[in-house]
Amino acid sequence: MPDEKYIIGITGGIGSGKSTVANLFRERGFHIIDADDVARDVVKPGSELLIKITTHFGKDILNRDGSLNRAKLASIVFQNQKEREYLEQILHPKIISQIIIQIEKADVKTVIIVVPLLIESGMDKLCDLVIVVIADVETRITRIEKRNTVDRDEILSRINAQISDTERSENADIIIDNNSDVNELARQVDKVITKIS
Ligand code: ATP
Repeated sequence: MPDEKYIIGITGGIGSGKSTVANLFRERGFHIIDADDVARDVVKPGSELLIKITTHFGKDILNRDGSLNRAKLASIVFQNQKEREYLEQILHPKIISQIIIQIEKADVKTVIIVVPLLIESGMDKLCDLVIVVIADVETRITRIEKRNTVDRDEILSRINAQISDTERSENADIIIDNNSDVNELARQVDKVITKIS
């Protein structure tokens, strides 16, 4: 990784507010690389990975237009650890290498990567600063329920399949507490910017 770049990693559990925090940084002029966008890109129709996934999980995993039905795949792998491990083992190396390519390409000094599994994948080691966004489980469930039509049990099983906020926080340089409103979140983002400037 080029030495001159300063890499900030943002992570957090499902519904913790990673994207909201990233958007606040984006509004303040920062360059953001979102692992979810990269994860969509590496399984686009015709890609080697989509062929691999379809061979393993069957054609039912595809939408009518041939694109990956991510919600369907997610509900399978979050109920089956072995399948989740299989999927992660084929997806993660490709996602990581694509993120590294995008970091290298970015013509800016500071790059922010938003990665749900930053710590689990070891990508935190690439970062100069690791920001962990935390929020209480109940708050996260309420916010996710408001955002999409996943039911409570499914959200809980996804939360339980991930490492806890305590474990994430042990690897954090900065913890952003997202239990309050977005104004308070923005205040914490501004504080981080002051610290790194
Ligand atoms: P995921 O892991 O599911 O991608 P995430 O960690 O990126 O989620 P966001 O999408 O940023 O989390 O936030 C989850 C939901 O909660 C969104 O609908 C967002 O608008 C809302 N939200 C985030 N922070 C707050 C807040 N402080 N107050 C109210 N709603 C919030």
